[in-house]
Amino acid sequence: MKTAEIIAIGSELLTPTRTDTNSLWLTEKLNEIGIEVMLKTIVGDDKSRLEETIRDAVKRSDIVISTGGLGPTEDDITRTISAKAIDRELAYHVEIEADLRERFKRWGRDMPETNKRQAYVIEGAQILPNPNGSAVGMSVEIGEKFFVILPGPPRENQPMFLDFVLPKLRESAGEIFVKRKILRVSGIGESAVDEAIAPIYKSYQTVDTSILFNKSEIEIHLTAKADTEENAAEILEELAEKIVEKLGIAVFATNGELMEEIVGEMLKSSGKTLSIAESCTGGLISQRLTDISGSSAYFIESAITYANEAKIKTLNVAPKIIETYGAVSKEVAEAMAKGIREKSGTDYAISITGIAGPTGGTEEKPVGLIFVGYADENQVKSFKIILPGDRFLIRWRASQAGLDYLRRQILKQQNLQTGASNQR
Ligand code: ATP
Ligand code: MG
Repeated sequence: MKTAEIIAIGSELLTPTRTDTNSLWLTEKLNEIGIEVMLKTIVGDDKSRLEETIRDAVKRSDIVISTGGLGPTEDDITRTISAKAIDRELAYHVEIEADLRERFKRWGRDMPETNKRQAYVIEGAQILPNPNGSAVGMSVEIGEKFFVILPGPPRENQPMFLDFVLPKLRESAGEIFVKRKILRVSGIGESAVDEAIAPIYKSYQTVDTSILFNKSEIEIHLTAKADTEENAAEILEELAEKIVEKLGIAVFATNGELMEEIVGEMLKSSGKTLSIAESCTGGLISQRLTDISGSSAYFIESAITYANEAKIKTLNVAPKIIETYGAVSKEVAEAMAKGIREKSGTDYAISITGIAGPTGGTEEKPVGLIFVGYADENQVKSFKIILPGDRFLIRWRASQAGLDYLRRQILKQQNLQTGASNQR
């Protein structure tokens, strides 16, 4: 397989205010044709460092792509330094100069003499036209290797890459198709997921599997390479199916969907409605649900009842329960869910009460302690969880735990669950 590296050129990219996004875009395009990016470098406008970087790059990689520094000014050094680094001369192209003069004329201006710099091209290079700017790009073949030099602005280098570079690289890389799939898992830790599925994914040599931890869930990223698109898709499906079989209902999404989308879809397709009572999450669950377009079909009402009086007044929680068990308790969570459900007349209700910290924890009720309540027409119940993290993460994870609890209850009712061991 061909390997690539990317060099982002420009001192502004080394400041805290500018980000190299060119390499992200290029990496995506390269990956799609089965070329892996092994290294990225950001170099300032420094002659010796740039020369050294290019020399090393063309030595170790099959494909080297640089962006930036092709402008007409003194600090745009890519053209001259690239030639030097690969021991070639620059040749002056009168037709490029003529084209530049023409371009300036159209803008109603005379071409500054400095722009003549942009008419120099590395000997033997293919010239890559730039309809969106003054700097042409270059594609140089060095033996079996490619060195591609693109201008910095995305609106200039993207069409140039797509029109003139990608077809050539695709040809040299051979017909390889790459497809991706993201599975999302909740309620199991990263290492437990890996332990469970490593024997499965390790037997798929042509699929790249990585397990990543997100705010409140585990993501399993699968990337398959094959000779046809259908084969890549087929092998992904097969592996995904085996993983789902192993992890059961802990897998809540198989196409990268969010928890709020999945829960929303379940409610929508079954024609059921939902109300929510939130305490420590302060409306986060409701926000996530209503971020999804079409949520009005199932999301009816939410109460953010932070203070005890609000829980009593709005949700009809008996003062005695709060007095006896405290606001963060199984009993209050259940009373909250029951209360909001009765008030709003929905099929389901969930509630959250907990301690988001960093203050307010006790030995008995530590920071991160969360109770999730649930109510439907037949039952009221709850579960307790102690979540790690700072205030932001605890609140986020509590919102996820609430949505996931609802998802599992609905699945249970629908008798669709597969991995019984993963039920709460
Ligand atoms: P120009 O002829 O427009 O000067 P150039 O090839 O000299 O082209 P640069 O001067 O290096 O390009 O960059 C011009 C602009 O392109 C930058 O100000 C920035 O907005 C954008 N740019 C450059 N490099 C990157 C990068 N790696 N990622 C995202 N944007 C970039
Ligand atoms: Mg420039």
